[in-house]
Amino acid sequence: MMGLSDQAILEQLQALDRMHHLHPFTDPQAVKKAAPFVIEQAKGAYITGQEIRLLDAMAGLGCVNIGYGREEMADVAVEAIRTLSYYHSFSAVSNPYAAALAGKIASLAPAGLNKVFFANSGSEANETLIKLAYLYWRRKGQPSKRILISRDYSYHGSTLATTRLNGNAPMIEDFGLAGGDDVLQATSPFWYRCGGDLEPEEFGLAAARDVEKKILEAGAENVAAVIAEPIQGTMGAIVPPDSYWPELSRICTEHDVLLIADEVVTGFGRTGHWFAQETFGFEADMMALAKGLSSGYAPISAAVISDEIADVIEDKGGVLHHGFTTSGHPLASALALKNIEIIETEGHVEKVHADIGPYFSKKLKTLEDHPLVGEVRVSGLIAGVELAKDKRSREQYPLEASVCNHVGQMALVRGLIVRPAGNVVVLCPPFIITHAEVDFLVGVMRDALDETQRALESS
Ligand code: PMP
Repeated sequence: MMGLSDQAILEQLQALDRMHHLHPFTDPQAVKKAAPFVIEQAKGAYITGQEIRLLDAMAGLGCVNIGYGREEMADVAVEAIRTLSYYHSFSAVSNPYAAALAGKIASLAPAGLNKVFFANSGSEANETLIKLAYLYWRRKGQPSKRILISRDYSYHGSTLATTRLNGNAPMIEDFGLAGGDDVLQATSPFWYRCGGDLEPEEFGLAAARDVEKKILEAGAENVAAVIAEPIQGTMGAIVPPDSYWPELSRICTEHDVLLIADEVVTGFGRTGHWFAQETFGFEADMMALAKGLSSGYAPISAAVISDEIADVIEDKGGVLHHGFTTSGHPLASALALKNIEIIETEGHVEKVHADIGPYFSKKLKTLEDHPLVGEVRVSGLIAGVELAKDKRSREQYPLEASVCNHVGQMALVRGLIVRPAGNVVVLCPPFIITHAEVDFLVGVMRDALDETQRALESS
């Protein structure tokens, strides 16, 4: 502990931060106006900073699935650093941790996904998969297949290629990256906002067929891959209708287009199965894994590809000109292995499926009677509480009204961290959350919604 109870040290750190730290996804003006909140410590499901303790119903950024500060993880880190603090994995060199982790991921992944490339972040895993998709088609003699299709409301990362896939205009336009005909955006299976008069299952099929329309317009011979999150997490925990994924999978197979499942959030049990492909009944050609791979104990991600793709890339010759200095890092791999072991031995995937997940869903859905709540979407331990100005017409509050941010603030002052995303309160608690903590969470959410409604009525 740095001893932030000492006010002078705290203020010094805040001053350094404000002067020198450029924060991700932050308005720099906000940091100029108010000192950053400095988190000092975290344990289990709670974070502590500046003498305030908060239940973290976001598990960091949807990653700390096994909870913060676990002793077993600290022990593994110490042992790995003492044994092999670093070595690379270029030029056919390996280390015991990376080799074992690759095998472990292959053993858990859907049947055909058996080859693993290691990177450091979700963005890098997706970026790697895009390059491997290009490489696959080139080595297969179909170099015209270059177009990527993603969807509105998606988030795939912050690197150059992944930024262009995001379904959020400012993320792309701020950097002058809009345009180009090699990335196409299809409709999101976001029934609440985009479904109109269709029933959810009808809309699920229509949204999948919008991807097919894009493939046909571009010509399947020009389309490399469709990339999609099984649940669109960042933009509002958008759980698609059940009809969506089997239809999208059928479309990709029929038109010989690769399907990339971005399981950065959903991987490793978040939806009550090891991977959301099992939850929604499809198998992708490639998948990206990150967050839950190490529960945020180390920056590590994995780009996993099918046997068919691996065979083409491996057999049709040549060096794979792609890699990171820290690909297969021993420390990160050791922590990921231990994290997976903890998930297995404590039975978290089964519990998310059959115990804490259903309890969370049942309790959270009681908020649907609140005048401000349009819909509560839940899958396993990821949820979105969609706010609505008019529940019948599904009209939204204008974003400038900051209604969702107000709910987030009201939750925070009551000891709960949630994530406002547009007009959706996103929740992604750690797997270790208890029934009593779920009760607390739902109680705070109701109070925060009541408080926000009072503020709206008086304004
Ligand atoms: N894909 C998805 C689905 C994500 O949610 C995220 C991060 N929120 C990313 C990719 C990017 O991961 P990272 O921030 O580790 O680069």
